[in-house]
Parts: sequence; structure tokens; C-alpha cells
Amino acid sequence: MTQESHGPSYARLAESALGDRAAALREMMRGCRLCPRHCDVDRLADELGACRTATDPIVSSYGPHFGEERPLVGRMGSGTIFLTNCNLRCVFCQNCEISQLGEGRPVSVERLAEMMLELQRRGCHNINWVTPTHQVPMLVEATRIAATDGLRVPIVYNCGGYESLECLRLLDGIIDIYMPDAKYGDNTGGEQLSGVPDYWDRCKEALAEMHRQVGDLELDEQGVATRGLLVRHLVLPGDMARTSAVVRYLASLSTDTYINVMAQYRPEHRARKVSAIARPPTRREFQAAVRAAVEAGLHRLDERRLVV
Ligand code: SF4
Repeated sequence: MTQESHGPSYARLAESALGDRAAALREMMRGCRLCPRHCDVDRLADELGACRTATDPIVSSYGPHFGEERPLVGRMGSGTIFLTNCNLRCVFCQNCEISQLGEGRPVSVERLAEMMLELQRRGCHNINWVTPTHQVPMLVEATRIAATDGLRVPIVYNCGGYESLECLRLLDGIIDIYMPDAKYGDNTGGEQLSGVPDYWDRCKEALAEMHRQVGDLELDEQGVATRGLLVRHLVLPGDMARTSAVVRYLASLSTDTYINVMAQYRPEHRARKVSAIARPPTRREFQAAVRAAVEAGLHRLDERRLVV
């Protein structure tokens, strides 16, 4: 099946169904449980939880992006929307100005819908929501508006992997491409480096649900992604990311899971103060991570990043 012949999932939902999903997601902000932190603050009354975001979408920048994985970039780029703030607090975040220091400005959902349509007009192959978890009610409402006005490219849910099942189930039939991080293959890494106690437990549930919804990554005849799961895993020094557990779990979902094993870790933000991750991984550590993926049975490794 190709996207061109059938269109994205959300375009097959009635406008009212998209509106109902957006409303249900919005209601989850009343005692916020949009992510597994369950801050229980009333964001509809402008209370702020760990992600420091109320009800206005906040956008740092948007535009065609050519630095993403090849199946997303194609010839014309991925239509990236960088969303401000995050539900995680990774000490090594490479986008900390946006994710933790609040760089960006509030926009209306109507403006957010216009951004999506503009990215489609510029030829982008998809709309790539970067760090959407804490802003998803507004993103779905913007999708409803944009779909009514002709949005037809797939949406990429590009997240940190710390997701609520309740929320993901409301996205079933809206998102075509899930691109989560799988940051750590145990809870300790998430506790020490991202500020949450149960990262791997929640991430495993999320990965299974995402795979159930969209399956393995499907490409069109030009090699551009139309639907499916694409997982990112950043190799950390000293195996702090517990790569073997991550790749074994992904292989248990499907050995056809597409994975980007990433080599580019550098100690940024507050990471230089954490001795376990105060250096880049060695070449040997990265090669061991790739080998673990292959030995687990995974064979769709993003090739562009395998050269170190
Ligand atoms: S989305 Fe934000 S406010 Fe809601 S539970 Fe997560 S971190 Fe807390």
C-alpha cells in the first residue's frame, strides 16, 4: 500500500472524529496525565506541570529539514515543527534551549494548522512533530483544521519514548509514522539521566502500542516512508543506554523494525558534570551496539549513520 494511493490515516477519519479525539486529549489536561509523569495539574486553568506548558501550542521553528533519516527526507525534506518544552529532563539534551529553556513562542492552533499546510505546499513528504507529547491535544486540533483545508501528507510523531498508553490509543488512526527514541533499556538510565523513574517500562508499552497501530516501516517506490515504526537509539558511553536490552525488545516486536543506532552522542548541556557520560562513546562501543542489533535479528539499520 502506498500513501499516494490511500492517503494518510487522519484523512480517512471524519472531521467530527478528529474533533472528538482532540477534545478527549484536551480533557486529559484537566488533571494532566498526557504523559506517564501524571503531574495532575489543571493545565486548562493555566497550571503548569513538569513540561511547563499550558494550552497554547509553543513552536520554536518550522521548515523543511534534511538532517532526518533518509526515509523521512526523500528529495524535498521532512516538514519539521520543533515544539518547545518537553516531558523529559535529559541531562545530555542537545536541544536544551528549546526543550528545557523555553525557546519558542506561543501560536494559535489555526496558525499551527497553517504551518502544516505551508510545509505541504513546499513539497515536504511529511509533517514531523518534534517532541509532541505534552502538546498533542493542540496538534490534533490543528490537524483537524489542516485536514479540512487539504492536508494530505503523513504525520510523524517524533518523541522521546516516554508516552502514555491512554494518549497513544487516542492517536490510533491519526498518526502514520511513529518515530520514538528508545533511550535506555532499563529504568535506571531514565532515573539518572532523564528524571523519570520508569522510562523503560513505559517505553516498552509505548513501542508495542505504536507497532500494533502502524506496523513495520513501509516505503514507497522512491524510498520515502509512508507508514510504520522507526526507532532511534543513541549509543551512550559505558553502555548507559543498555543497548542489548533495547534491540532484543525491538526484535521481539518484529525483526523488521527499522532502527537508527546513532553514534553522535557528545556530552552537552549538563552531561559534562555526570562522570558516566562525560565523554563520547568510543568507536568500539558504537560497533558493539550495532553488532548487538544485528545479533538480535534486526536487519533494517539506518545506513547513513553507521559510518563513524
Ligand atoms: S504532559 Fe506535562 S503536565 Fe502533563 S503529565 Fe506530562 S509533564 Fe506533566
